[in-house]
Formats: sequence, structure tokens, C-alpha cells
Amino acid sequence: MSVKNPQTREWQDLSRDHHLAPFSDYKQLKEKGPRIITKAKGVHLWDSEGNKILDGMAGLWCVAVGYGREELAEAAASQMRELPYYNLFFQTAHPPALELARAITEVAPAGMSHVFFTGSGSEGNDTNLRMVRHYWALKGKPQKQVIIGRVNGYHGSTVAGAALGGMSGMHEQGGTLPGIVHIAQPYWFGEGGDMTPDAFGVWAAEQLEKKILEVGEDNVAAFIAEPIQGAGGVIIPPETYWPKIKEILAKYEILFIADEVICGFGRTGQWFGTDYYGLKPDLMTIAKGLTSGYIPMGGVIVRDEVAAVLSEGGDFNHGFTYSGHPVAAAVALENLRILRDEKIIERVQAETAPYLQKRLRELNDHPLVGEVRGLGMLGAIELVKDKTTRTRYEGKGVGMICRQFCFDNGLIMRAVGDTMIIAPPLVITCEEIDELVEKARKCLDLTLEALK
Ligand SMILES: *Cc1c(COP(=O)(O)O)cnc(C)c1O
Repeated sequence: MSVKNPQTREWQDLSRDHHLAPFSDYKQLKEKGPRIITKAKGVHLWDSEGNKILDGMAGLWCVAVGYGREELAEAAASQMRELPYYNLFFQTAHPPALELARAITEVAPAGMSHVFFTGSGSEGNDTNLRMVRHYWALKGKPQKQVIIGRVNGYHGSTVAGAALGGMSGMHEQGGTLPGIVHIAQPYWFGEGGDMTPDAFGVWAAEQLEKKILEVGEDNVAAFIAEPIQGAGGVIIPPETYWPKIKEILAKYEILFIADEVICGFGRTGQWFGTDYYGLKPDLMTIAKGLTSGYIPMGGVIVRDEVAAVLSEGGDFNHGFTYSGHPVAAAVALENLRILRDEKIIERVQAETAPYLQKRLRELNDHPLVGEVRGLGMLGAIELVKDKTTRTRYEGKGVGMICRQFCFDNGLIMRAVGDTMIIAPPLVITCEEIDELVEKARKCLDLTLEALK
């Protein structure tokens, strides 16, 4: 990449000489150097070359209230002055964590009134794995150990996160654990074949029952799933999927872990994805939108029946130095206040999400687009060679080509294979949605042109 600003080159040299990046193609990164993001405001970022970019991904799905919120900086600074750190281990606590636990359970589904704090979503899912196994042991059923996840699910990048998730590339690099099995994902566009979406949704849900029976109900601790798969490609399940899963979960004595790290805190236009789908999780993983990404924090919201069993159980030998970190908790509290007082989720539901979904679907007429789907502030655009047969451009890396055009034209869209995905800040306005969709169309045109 040629650069105008000499500092850009310096930073790129630092990257090459000193930094090992997360989730990056190292060889490519060394050749091209990273784009350096230097500041942000609202829904826009600026890079070190002075380019202004619309952030269609809210960072990594997290910057719900947008960039540059003074209140969040102020909350962090004043908490740092008052009590910058203390822990929640060995019978101590501090006000920000306790007040945040209450604030979270006020917006959580009824009957979920306890929170275990972690530093990230991955740590939340590590916590889930240990908590559900501990729970069953306390219930006198220690053989209930197996957790069922889904192919192409994403639950983070610690060993437990990677193993619970269904990303083969992560499994191959030390990311597996015994006692975790996977079932098919409800990805109709990619895997539905000749079935209708509804029939495929039922089929995909039935795989859960099949797996429970195969492993044996007495050996299954829990089923873990995202209400909508995010990193897997914004996969909105067919309408039949969750009702059928609900029916199956009601039949068997297993826990349901909803990974709400992306869907939680308003992304669907409801507080949680499980609210949107009417599900009844026993545990919910949270992170990302909890602090709008201004500072790391995650956790698990726990159903009362589970919390009651744990509370009778003596030591739970699990926790993180930064569980419920006071500065993170203060920021999260202020972030929840902003979401609530500014009625951001209500506006998403009533106004901006319907507008985004309507405008995105206009892209369906584009020759490169096989499907546009979305829900709330989530969207996906499938890039194909043939619309009717859903045939891809094999081996061309169309998604990455499109992603590069987006970056070069002032828009961040992420590519998952040949699926372009978006998850803008929840505060995006209708005018900014227009900007997003117009830039997306331009980049689709440029991509199609490049393929000729
Ligand atoms: C991002 C994500 C995680 C992992 O969260 P980290 O904070 O990156 O550890 C877990 N689950 C889902 C659904 C996610 O999108």
C-alpha cells in the first residue's frame, strides 16, 4: 500500500517488526501492512492517511452507542480516581460490579437475576462450560458433561470458546476439547439444497434431538447457540428453527446456553436475541455491546434455578483477576444508562432497523447478489455467480475483493467467505444508512467489474 503520511509507514513497520495480530493472514499482513485507524466519532473512523470511513461493523459488533461518547470516558476516569481496581474474590465486592449486576438483570429476561462477570465473551463461555458441569455435579449427575454446539458457530477464541464454536480453522489450531460435539447450522442459503427454508429449519433443529439421543440424555449437560450466528456470516435461521429447538429443549433435561455476545443489548431491536425469538435460556453469555467496546468486559447471566443450586454448592473454583473490574463496570453502567435513557433500542426497533432492512433489500436487484437477509441492525449480502442456483464464483475470493473496494471507498463491511456482513452502531441514522447502502452498491458494482 502506498502511503502519503510518513507516520503510516512507521506504524506499519512497527506492526511488521513487533506485533503478532489476532485473526490475520500473517504473510499478507507482512506484505501489505495494516490500515492504521487513528480516531473515531459517531459511526465514522479516520485512518492515518486521513480517510473517513463509515464503520458498518461497529468495530467488532460492539460499539453500540457510537464512538466519542464523553460520558463513557468520564465514567471511566472518575472510577479510576475513586477505586481503579479491586477484585471480587474471597468474600469481597465493590459497588460498581454489584450495581451493574442489578442493572443487567433489570433488562434481562424474567427469572434471570444473577450475573457472573468475566473480562470477555470467550471467558464467559469458558465460565459456561465449567458452570454447567459444576451444576450437574451438584445435582448428583456428574456424568452430564457433554456440550452440544453447532458447526460454524462462534463462541470466542480461548480453548473452550474455540472448541464450543464450530470453526474448523480454529479446531485445527489447538482449539478442541473432549466432551464437545457439534450439529449442523441452520444456514439455508449455503446448505439448504432443494429444501424450502421452513423444511430446512425443521431438519436443522431435529439434528439437536438426534444428537441428544446419540450421546444419551444422561450424558448431555447443555446446548450452546447464538440466537443469530454472527461471525459465521449473519445467519438468520428459518422461521421454523427456534420454535422446533424450543420444543426439543423442553423434552430433555439439558441446559440451554444462549450466546448473546452479539445479539445482546439491542442488536435485534430487543434487549436480547432470546427476547426476539421468545426463547428461555438457562445461561446467557454477554460482552461486546455491554460496554459498547469502550473497555473489555463480559459475563454470564444465570437463571434463578441454576443460581440457587450453585449457591448451595460451596466453593466455585473459577474466576478472573478482572472479573467485574470496577472501571469496566462503571463504563457498562453508564452505557446501559445511555441505551435506556436515549431509548436507543426503541428507535432501532421502530425506525432505523426497518429502514436499514428495507434499503439493504434494494440490493437484491444487483447481478452479484444472491440473497440479502437481515434483522435488526444485522445484515448479510450473499455474493454469487448465479442467483437462481445460488452458485458461487469458486476460488476467486470475491468477498475479499469486495471488502477491499469497501475499505478503499470509505465503508467497512466484513467478508465471511463470499458473504458480506454488516452490524453498524445502533445509533446510526437514516441518512447514514443511505450512505452505507449507496457505498455498498458502488462496491458491488466495482467487484462485478473486477470479475469480468
Ligand atoms: C465475539 C464473540 C465471542 C467472544 O467474545 P470475546 O470478547 O472476543 O472473547 C463469543 N461469542 C460470540 C457470539 C461472539 O460474537
